[in-house]
Amino acid sequence: MTPVVSAQRIFKSFGKVDVLKGIDLEVQEREVLCLIGPSGSGKSTLLRCVNHLEKIDAGRLYVDGVLVGYRQRGDVLHELRENEVAAQRKDIGMVFQRFNLFPHMTALENITEAPVQVRKENKAQARERGRELLDRVGLADKADNYPAQLSGGQQQRVAIARALAMRPKLMLFDEPTSALDPELVGDVLEVMRQLAKDGMTMVVVTHEMQFAREVADKVLFMDDGVVVEQGPPDQVIGDPKHERTKEFLARVL
Ligand code: ADP
Ligand code: MG
Repeated sequence: MTPVVSAQRIFKSFGKVDVLKGIDLEVQEREVLCLIGPSGSGKSTLLRCVNHLEKIDAGRLYVDGVLVGYRQRGDVLHELRENEVAAQRKDIGMVFQRFNLFPHMTALENITEAPVQVRKENKAQARERGRELLDRVGLADKADNYPAQLSGGQQQRVAIARALAMRPKLMLFDEPTSALDPELVGDVLEVMRQLAKDGMTMVVVTHEMQFAREVADKVLFMDDGVVVEQGPPDQVIGDPKHERTKEFLARVL
């Protein structure tokens, strides 16, 4: 089976700062991979490379078997044009730490914007599906609310619904609950848990170790741009082998 994400020895630097130093990983269809690691270890950069927001310097990165950002002819790589990149990105949903909703649009409008504008979906159908998605994230009654009228947790659930509206093959989450008040975290994690149960392929950067333990098929611990340890949650979180993993877990658990 073709993995949904396959990273092979990928490197990324910003100027003199080497951020990713030979990352290998694979995510299979319907799998949930949780990325954990200290601040500055390169987790966000890795997700941003998968989602075409950053370009890798070396290595190969495939999403759904397709080389990210390049076309390969023989041994030579050609950069893709902007519209080709957009086509590749269409199938990837991303949810950030900050909710990034359009402030001047209602919850429902936020959700239907991209399907109508980018996927050229019929407006009425997009609205109907938007309402279904709002229902799925527990916000059926908030369709007409503006972001400012929603709590952080509700905004984040709208952001998830908005990403799902594009019918992604892959969902990326970058610390989706880190900016939330503690009492709002649970509802967002519950939506993500349900999404995982429904078979969505997900890569989740999180400090929520309980969530990672319950939901992840695989946990990957990154430190200083390298994968220190990866495996099933019971192994990496429950019985870490490496000193760096143990130290990190002692700090967050
Ligand atoms: P994490 O998400 O694990 O906290 P990041 O991927 O955000 O880590 O950052 C890893 C390193 O890369 C940090 O040292 C950060 O300062 C640096 N970095 C990230 N993005 C940029 C950028 N656009 N320009 C320069 N340095 C960056
Ligand atoms: Mg980060």
